[in-house]
Amino acid sequence: MPSVAERTALAAAEITRLGAGAVSTEPALVAKVSSDWSRMSPVLQEKVPPGRYLADVVVRPTEPGQVPVILKAAFDHDVPVTPRGAGTGNYGQATPFDGGILLDLRDLRSITVNAGGTITAGAGAPLTEIDKVARAAGRDIWIFPSTKGSTVGGFVGGGSAGTGTIEHGTTSDGFVVSVTVAPMDGSGRLITHRGADATPYIHTYGVTGILVDVEIRTDPAREWSALYADFATYAELVAVHRTLLDLPVLPRLASADEPALVPTLPAPMELDPTRFSLRVIAESSTSEEILSRVRAENGRVVADLPDYAETDTLSGMSYNHPVYFLQQAHPERSWFHMETGGTVYWDDPDAVRAIYDGQVDLHLELMGSAPLAMVVAQYESEEKVLAGMPRFDAVGAGVHSPHQWYVDRNVGLAIATAKVTDPKGLLNPGKLVASPPVDTRLTIGVLRP
Ligand SMILES: Cc1cc2nc3c(=O)[nH]c(=O)nc-3n(C[C@H](O)[C@H](O)[C@H](O)COP(=O)(O)OP(=O)(O)OC[C@H]3O[C@@H](n4cnc5c(N)ncnc54)[C@H](O)[C@@H]3O)c2cc1C
Repeated sequence: MPSVAERTALAAAEITRLGAGAVSTEPALVAKVSSDWSRMSPVLQEKVPPGRYLADVVVRPTEPGQVPVILKAAFDHDVPVTPRGAGTGNYGQATPFDGGILLDLRDLRSITVNAGGTITAGAGAPLTEIDKVARAAGRDIWIFPSTKGSTVGGFVGGGSAGTGTIEHGTTSDGFVVSVTVAPMDGSGRLITHRGADATPYIHTYGVTGILVDVEIRTDPAREWSALYADFATYAELVAVHRTLLDLPVLPRLASADEPALVPTLPAPMELDPTRFSLRVIAESSTSEEILSRVRAENGRVVADLPDYAETDTLSGMSYNHPVYFLQQAHPERSWFHMETGGTVYWDDPDAVRAIYDGQVDLHLELMGSAPLAMVVAQYESEEKVLAGMPRFDAVGAGVHSPHQWYVDRNVGLAIATAKVTDPKGLLNPGKLVASPPVDTRLTIGVLRP
């Protein structure tokens, strides 16, 4: 049997002959797109450091119809294919463990606003561009991640939540209307799946098929304001944070940070590094109500910026971003974080702090019924990180480890689907197993009441 590299060369020659996308073996490009943002995790930095796993070739289609042609060539020559959007996934889930083809989808960038208000976009369209088109058409896309420059295919294939999640949940909660997928079954075709039939393709890292087009839901556009406030104590901060679910129009985002995370946030104004920060994307008619709640809890109103561009800046400081900014500012120390959540973060945060010896800083995001929390602490070992997971359960907090690359949503469905859509197991190898060797649970459990 020829090696993966030899088989890939044969498939690449066929792809070139058929004119099915740009093919490159340029070493710097191959190295760059063979790794993602898993460097946020000290555990993954050790396990999947840049350069350890390399694709043999990068293929960059420019037309949706080229993707099934590429997959047919790969299928015929038994070549692994790992899809990639902008590569901002932080679980190492776009790492080409078995070499082969790295499928760079960033040139599939079409964006169409449909008659009913949904938007159909090529998998490589950045959410920044989709949002621009949506706003120009008087629409708001339901959700987008803090990495707004990432692709819609990567967000649906590997992401989960973000700005808009308080009202609309995650990528699995109706955001995706339909997906057009290229299976790895030798058929060389594209198939469109709607509604529940799209589920096996959401947050399954491309192991069930390559997303070529994604149709997503939007709402009529609203006016949004970026609100900044701060507080002397955690208790005052959460006293406001927890009330934001009863507003007549839910905020698009409500992020909260302890002082240790505040100085490195790239806000448009100086934030007081001694105080607890609250940042809200509020529907403009609710701004005054939110600010009066801030004042009632002895908080200070820092800014009320009724400008859509300012809401984007605020969104760029949400979810994993405060952890990233802290890591950037203090590279001399090694930080890890856990993705967790639950009302315990409002009611008894010290119970959670105790999990890692009290040496933690908390970043909160409001979700549909409780906060999501990024728990940030200094890294010692993977064992110590994982030892915390049952302790989150014990205090009633959901937890998800961002230190592993295995598919952890709808695993059984993904396995059953991949048996049909990828019978040779060539799509994004190593990410789909029934029993992962590390604790991968997805039990954040705060997404819906
Ligand atoms: C600082 C920071 C902040 C983040 N904030 C958020 C956040 O707010 N919310 C959130 O959900 N995530 C967040 N993430 C994770 C990540 O940025 C998002 O999920 C992002 O939307 C992924 O898009 P991408 O284009 O970069 O995908 P990639 O990283 O390129 O890919 C992600 C996964 O999807 C697969 N994939 C890519 N394209 C396709 C396709 N067309 N078909 C099938 N599979 C495909 C890849 O193989 C990979 O497994 C954050 C990450 C970082 C580093």
